Amino acid sequence: MEYDLIIVGSGPAGLTAAIYAQRYLLNCLVIGELQGGMISESHRICNFPTQNNITGFDLTQRILAHVTELGGKVNQEAVKEIKQKKGGFLLRGEDREYFARKIILATGTKKRKLNVPGEKEFLGRGLSYCATCDAGFFKDKTVCVVGGSDAALTAALLLAEYAQKVYIIYRQDKFFRAEPAWVQQVEKNKKIKSIFNSSVVEIKGNQQVEKIRLDTNKELAADGIFIEIGSIPNDELAKQLGAEMENGHIKVNKKQETNIKGLYAAGDVTNNPLKQVITACGEGAIAAYSAYEQLIKEKAAGD
Ligand code: FAD
Repeated sequence: MEYDLIIVGSGPAGLTAAIYAQRYLLNCLVIGELQGGMISESHRICNFPTQNNITGFDLTQRILAHVTELGGKVNQEAVKEIKQKKGGFLLRGEDREYFARKIILATGTKKRKLNVPGEKEFLGRGLSYCATCDAGFFKDKTVCVVGGSDAALTAALLLAEYAQKVYIIYRQDKFFRAEPAWVQQVEKNKKIKSIFNSSVVEIKGNQQVEKIRLDTNKELAADGIFIEIGSIPNDELAKQLGAEMENGHIKVNKKQETNIKGLYAAGDVTNNPLKQVITACGEGAIAAYSAYEQLIKEKAAGD
């Protein structure tokens, strides 16, 4: 099948790009593995304009409905390979091939996992990978943050605005990777206690997180745990194509163009500094517009 535009990824960035592409009347297809992307795993979204308290699942359904109401098509499938071909790109899915004149990569990231018992079971039930999103649910509670980077320390500081007690659990003996200013603020904050030379080995509870077991055999009673040990961009397809990367993410300009003609990228997989739904949607919209603009120019030039 041949398309003007194929969007790889069905998270907020990819689906918003699809909404715009439909309005531009492009012959477009979205191919994505996880419908809704990361937000489908989020318990509640409270910072998306007009949505003060919506489940990730419901927001996903609304965005998907918007795409399909406009006639957009979404194939639930993984793209295994993309190759440049004359006039566009050849994509290999799970059991078929596609040709697209333009591509938007909106493949997002995957959170680095602790890989300990309880991690999968308690996701959205006290366990989160996003303090910006979920800190507000832990008012007057006790929470743990795992990690020692800027992300972990800023998460702890944010959580301390809500929670009554915040433990930072870090496997090293000091915060040598974090900015000294953050370390100083953490040290000054009476609600935060840092536990060094320790790793989480198990997360326990019934319906919700209740206890965190450490490799020192110590157990902490906690209502929540935030895992801030980094995230890994889904960059395999970009690398196959030779896209330029920056800090492990796809480098894009203000038009969401990569260094490869006809290849755009949007959302968390790019080098944008704020990994949130609103920015992913914005980048998806810009990427679709840029692809549309280029297609119009090429059509006018008779390419
Ligand atoms: P993603 O949502 O990661 O979507 C990527 C898509 O690409 C997925 O569909 C995936 O399956 C697909 N994909 C990847 N590789 C392939 C491939 N090879 N072939 C086909 N498809 C592929 N943000 C907020 O703004 N507010 C919140 O309250 C909030 N809460 C969060 C809570 C949690 C628990 C988590 C984990 C994140 C939260 N976030 C929140 C962050 C938000 O989810 C992300 O910023 C956003 O989803 C990024 O959108 P994206 O489309 O760039 O990528």
